[in-house]
Formats: sequence, C-alpha cells, structure tokens
Amino acid sequence: MNAFQPECESTELRARVDSFVRTEVIPAEAALDAGGTDRAVALRGLRDSARGAGLWALPLPAELGGGGLTFQQYAAYAESEGASDHGPAALGSAPLLDVLMLGRYGGARVREEYLGGLVSGELRSCYAMTEPDVPGSAPLLTRTRAEPRPDGGWSVTGRKWFTSGADGADLVTVMARTGGTAGDREGLTLFAVPTGSPGLRVVRELPVFGASGQYEIALDRVLVPADHVLGRGDDALAIAGERLALGRTLRCLRWLGQAQRAFELMCERAATRDGSHGPLAGNQLVQQHVFDALLALRTTRPLVHEAVALIAAGQDARTEVGLAKVAAARMLQQVADSAIQVYGAAGLGPDTALPSLFRGGRAARILDGPDELHITSVARRVLRDHGWAPGSPIRG
Ligand SMILES: Cc1cc2nc3c(=O)[nH]c(=O)nc-3n(C[C@H](O)[C@H](O)[C@H](O)COP(=O)(O)OP(=O)(O)OC[C@H]3O[C@@H](n4cnc5c(N)ncnc54)[C@H](O)[C@@H]3O)c2cc1C
Repeated sequence: MNAFQPECESTELRARVDSFVRTEVIPAEAALDAGGTDRAVALRGLRDSARGAGLWALPLPAELGGGGLTFQQYAAYAESEGASDHGPAALGSAPLLDVLMLGRYGGARVREEYLGGLVSGELRSCYAMTEPDVPGSAPLLTRTRAEPRPDGGWSVTGRKWFTSGADGADLVTVMARTGGTAGDREGLTLFAVPTGSPGLRVVRELPVFGASGQYEIALDRVLVPADHVLGRGDDALAIAGERLALGRTLRCLRWLGQAQRAFELMCERAATRDGSHGPLAGNQLVQQHVFDALLALRTTRPLVHEAVALIAAGQDARTEVGLAKVAAARMLQQVADSAIQVYGAAGLGPDTALPSLFRGGRAARILDGPDELHITSVARRVLRDHGWAPGSPIRG
C-alpha cells in the first residue's frame, strides 16, 4: 500500500481485512467461482469466519446490526476487501448500496421486511435498470412499464438484463416508466419487487467471458403494492444517480485492489522465472510493463480517494467520480493485461487469478455506464464551466 491511502485508525483494520482476504477468501475463489452448492458452502464458511473475526458488515448501519463505519472509514479498507471479487460478499458489505437506498427511500414495510435480513446475510437483493432493447447508458429510454391499479398498486411488465445476482435474490429494485414517454426525465419510478411475485422470473444466465453472476429477468404484469414504490415515485433518476455515485466509487476502490494483486503477481513472476539470460525481470521490455502498471496504479489511487473525500463531504463529485471510474477501469485492464503478458501462456490458463482479473477489467469499461458516457459528461461539464454552451452558433 502507499502514502495515498488514508491514514487513521483504519490502518489496523485494513491490515486485518487484507489478511482475511489473502488467507481465507482468495484460497476459496475456485469454489466461489464454481457457483451452485460449492459456492454456497464456501460462502457460508467464509461468512461465519468473518463474523468470528469481527469483520462482518462493518459499513452497514449499526441500528440494523452492521458495524456503522462511515463511508470514508470503509473506503480506507475497501481496496483490500475488493482484491477478491468475492471479498464484499464474504465480509457482508455487498448489500451496502441497496441497504442505503432502501433505508433512505423505501417505505416502512419494505424497510421492516428486508433491511435486517440483508444486513445479517439471510436475504439477498439485486438492482435491475439495464434492458436488452435500449441502451443502458440512456435510462430515459426505459421500456419496462408500470400501470396503476385501482387498489393504488402497480402492474409492472418488461425485461431487464445483466442484473447481477438476480438468481436466488429475495428482492429486486426495478426501474419502470409510470408516465410520460421515452426520453422524458419525468415519469420514471423505482419499485422494490419481491422476487417471489407471480409473473417475475429469471429467463437465463448471461455468463461474462464464461463467468457466472449476471441474469436476464422478465416481468409479466407483476403486481407491486403501492408501499413498494421508492421515494416520491417520480424521482427514480435522482435516487439512481445517488446510488451510482457511491457504487462507482466503491467499485474503483475494488478495482485498485484487484490491479494491485495483478501487479504483485507480475513482479513475482518477473523476478523468479529464468530466461536464457537470467530472470525475466532483467529485460527492459518487462521493466516497461512494471513501470507502466505502477504508474497507472499510483496515478489512479489519488483520483479515487479524491472522489471518496468529496462524496463523504456531501459535495458535488460528478467530475471526480467520472475521472476515477474511467481511470480505474482502464488501469485494471492494463495492469491485468501486462501481468498476463509477463506470465506468458500460464497467464491465460487456470492456475492464476489473472484471467478473472482481466475479465473484471474488461467489463469495468462497460458496467456502471460505459467509459464514453463518463468521458463526454466530464468533458461537457468542464467545457460549460469555460463558457461553452451546447448548440451555440459558430462565432464568425
Ligand atoms: C458485469 C456486469 C454487471 C452489470 N450489473 C448490472 C446490474 O446489476 N444492474 C443493471 O441494471 N445493469 C447492470 N449492468 C449493465 C451495465 O450497467 C450496462 O451494460 C451499461 O450501463 C452500458 O449499457 P449497455 O450495455 O446497454 O450499452 P449501451 O448503452 O448500448 O452502450 C454501448 C456502447 O455505445 C457507446 N456509447 C454509449 N453511450 C455513449 C456516449 N454517450 N458517447 C459515446 N459513445 C457511447 C459505447 O461504446 C458503449 O460501450 C452490468 C453490466 C456488466 C457487464
């Protein structure tokens, strides 16, 4: 780790999480990746172990049974936790975004029925915004529709995909159009939908480069009670934006942890594998990989922590989150790719975590909004601050 990680009482906590992830979570990755019963058994064991070590659900609200850490305190160790994709699930912080969203915008019934179970790990939730037939980067085009019913409830119909963790989830938050037409900012609503509701089904799994975890779901006239609407009912975009800012920043921290892991693997390999003239590390072109990867890591980390600090201070962090998201996604892909190159064929095979780290880096450039979306929105905001008015006439 380095000087750009916040120093505070979390240093000791970070060391404990780091050790837990390295000694318990990473060795269990093969079972966790296998899915099904193997995954369930491994995850249960890890969760018991995390509870025993006093590391369970630390960033979740204390009144719900979590550890009550602030976002900034969590951010100080999220990189270590995220070094394995399974770290957040093993340590009980995976439901953080849903718990905060449902706690702030869910009605009393939703809060009572789900929040405690999500924090304890007995229940699971997922979030369904992206649809197969319209660009995920343009939620105003959402086609899933909700029609009002005489009893005040809603009937929701549509299709969502790449809903992470939908299989086995107990609750899914669904974005649907309740008014207006495609392209309108108004008339979009978030619904907390129990997955046992008639008409809701998982259509198929969508493996990402062969890895499980993403699903397509269909909703066919699913009845949702009035008190399962989140917020005022017409503020889906604001709620989703708040959730995404936090979510993107947390992902960036996790990507830093994964890139650091790929970097260490690369350096160990370079230092210990002998070529005809000694260790690979003696080749300048290998040194170039090491330098570029270190540069990417060290220049990205402060950007991510800048976004963390602004969010924690309740300030506008849109530019910083956009910069951090693009930098961190590119960085993970670059570092994992370099590590694979230095490993040779072994880097593509099943004996290291590099294929899964590379897969994560490639997906990172698309999920939570593709890079292009962040690039254009950051650039437009900056240019507007410099007097540019979109659509202004050519100066002559
Ligand atoms: C592993 C994974 C997990 C995911 N988990 C979830 C989840 O849990 N819940 C959920 O709702 N969604 C989830 N998603 C979906 C994800 O959020 C969307 O894939 C993402 O927002 C992009 O939407 P899209 O795939 O429809 O691409 P599109 O929006 O169709 O974009 C396709 C391409 O068009 C280009 N493009 C788009 N916008 C612009 C622009 N403004 N300027 C220039 N070019 C542009 C880019 O090259 C972009 O890659 C997940 C995706 C992945 C890969």
